[in-house]
Amino acid sequence: MVEGITILEAKNISKLFGGVQALKNVDIKIQKSKIHGLIGPNGAGKSTFFNVVSGLYPPTEGQVLFNSSDITALPAEEINRMGISRTFQAGKLVPNITVLDNVMSGMYHHSSNPVKSFFFEPVKFHNEEKNTKNFALEMLKFIGIPDFAERWTSELVWIERQLVQIARALMSKPELLMLDEPTSGMGIEESKAVMNIIRRVRDMGVTVVVVSHDMSLITEISDWITVLDFGNKISEGSPQQVQQDPRVLEAYLGKEE
Ligand code: ADP
Ligand code: MG
Repeated sequence: MVEGITILEAKNISKLFGGVQALKNVDIKIQKSKIHGLIGPNGAGKSTFFNVVSGLYPPTEGQVLFNSSDITALPAEEINRMGISRTFQAGKLVPNITVLDNVMSGMYHHSSNPVKSFFFEPVKFHNEEKNTKNFALEMLKFIGIPDFAERWTSELVWIERQLVQIARALMSKPELLMLDEPTSGMGIEESKAVMNIIRRVRDMGVTVVVVSHDMSLITEISDWITVLDFGNKISEGSPQQVQQDPRVLEAYLGKEE
């Protein structure tokens, strides 16, 4: 294992969906301030792992520790408040509002009660809103899309949606950012731009877990890689170690057309 502080530890995680075992006794340790790649063929359990860690589904078995606290099956908002933020593979965004409003919504779990504040503390409400807006504009700038702010989400193409998702996920100032297939559907140049964003996020001290089925891309940016196949952890190590692991080659060569 790479040297460092463990920020997230998944211990013996299993997840069953009826008869489908999406995860089977999976142990994963994520080191602070690193980029951790999570790879595997389609259906390997990568998104399920994110869903379990981020509190969308409780695991059937096992435990998730974040900064040594047990967060297993806590509500998703609570886990987000504690410092874990994520994006979704399908690129979920609210359609009928602007990009800026979408990005601002990433702060939602962190603001004080907005209704109460609006009626009883109007000045505080206004200031919070203004700070959130400024920070959202800063995040759009950081991602490289400052001119997107007033555009409608429904007008965005797939790649643009992925970038807006990352900006929104950063709004809660996460310690751990989990990105599910952030470069899916992208060409090489676009993927490289996203990889640079991921590196810059890591350089700010944020730990990043990136899910991808693209082996070459992930070996380029990851400090450490875990490989899943049919819900099992089949390999982990440095990019070099994982690339040379016969079990990994078999999992990929056996399935890719
Ligand atoms: P990956 O992200 O690696 O492609 P997933 O985690 O999405 O894989 O899926 C792992 C397995 O779990 C698949 O067989 C998938 O069909 C199943 N699965 C995932 N989510 C659900 C769900 N909500 N209900 C039923 N089955 C699911
Ligand atoms: Mg997936």
